Amino acid sequence: MSIATNNIAFNVDEIRKDFPILNREVNGYPLVYFDNAATSQTPKQVMDAIVDYYSNYNANIHRGVHSLSQEATDKYEGARRKIQQHFNAEKAHEIIFTSGTTHGINLVASGFASILQKGDEILVSALEHHSNIVPWQMLCEKTGAVLKVIPMNEQGELIYESFEELVSEKTKMVFLNHVSNALGTINPIKKIIDKAHEKGAAVLIDGAQAAPHIKADVQALDVDFYVVSAHKMCGPTGVGVLYGKEEWLNKLPPYQGGGEMIATVSFEKTTYADLPHKFEAGTPNICGGIAFGAAIEYMNSIGFEAIARYEDELLDYATLKLQEIEGMKLYGTSREKTAVISFNIEGLHPYDIGTLVDKMGIAVRTGHHCAQPIMDFYKIPGTVRASFSFYNTKEEIDRFIEAVKKAKSMLS
Ligand SMILES: *Cc1c(COP(=O)(O)O)cnc(C)c1O
Repeated sequence: MSIATNNIAFNVDEIRKDFPILNREVNGYPLVYFDNAATSQTPKQVMDAIVDYYSNYNANIHRGVHSLSQEATDKYEGARRKIQQHFNAEKAHEIIFTSGTTHGINLVASGFASILQKGDEILVSALEHHSNIVPWQMLCEKTGAVLKVIPMNEQGELIYESFEELVSEKTKMVFLNHVSNALGTINPIKKIIDKAHEKGAAVLIDGAQAAPHIKADVQALDVDFYVVSAHKMCGPTGVGVLYGKEEWLNKLPPYQGGGEMIATVSFEKTTYADLPHKFEAGTPNICGGIAFGAAIEYMNSIGFEAIARYEDELLDYATLKLQEIEGMKLYGTSREKTAVISFNIEGLHPYDIGTLVDKMGIAVRTGHHCAQPIMDFYKIPGTVRASFSFYNTKEEIDRFIEAVKKAKSMLS
């Protein structure tokens, strides 16, 4: 299958050759991997970068005078610059390597503990992942700040008018995701960032679920913090970045103490290193950072516009086909969404559907998707979630639909 997108032939058969795992069988069937919102698969270009690192220049960075250390440092800092360019950050030192989205959020939340005062307000959206709820609750406990929730509607969209009513001069920060991992909703972050700034509040956007589909421009968005994980965008687990505006990163205290993050140390007084090292205590995930750079390069070689267009096609196709199944209930029907479909079938438990389709080689997610408040809103224990990537195909969706139908007839 091949569709012309922006004069670039989007050849999914060629792309699939980059992903060795797509050739394997599961329970006697060729694998259909529809759990991309939990983690993406890894192309051989990224695996090559990992093997190259360990085969040729594995060394600790930023300290050695020897050649290997210099080479590793150059590659690691090169990856930082690739990531900087990708997100259009003004300065490379505004890109802080982390272990992932969760780490990035905790770093910022912990830093704000020294800024917030009793009675200050934090707004968080109803569509959040637990990793974007719990750190703020902990922060409120520590500081006496108050957490308020921007509500959502039946379609799984944030209610902007409610946000406008909630945000005030008391609001010190607003936290929300760019794309909901449970429903696929794309949130109107630019509008929210501008409104929050009018009131003097800082905004952190959790970009973990948007990053594999949408190229965010942090300067155009004028966002204060943007966090992502590499493993959702063809990179390895255990690495991600926090983008922060320089002035904010200078204002926040270091998150962890240790090597790498200091300028001078004595028992009387320690001075901190400049950005980004102030926030990068200890030996980082050197190989992971380099592989993250390779993943970003790989995705850009395919092109984010082409990716989005192709994935939208998959989403529309699957939505149409699923709706033909009797008793089907889709959750998250926002007009603006990425290729995530959450659903239940009347009278059936999502876990049973997930287990049966797995027997037919199809990987989907079932449960609350780390977003229990969303499930509470719909008064359900969970959903079946199929999430697509640019290496998936319509043929795979056909197999999935057949499997769901079969599961349904076995369970009813
Ligand atoms: C996956 C995800 C996270 C958590 O990412 P980690 O890599 O587990 O830290 C947070 N928010 C959203 C929207 C996600 O999809």
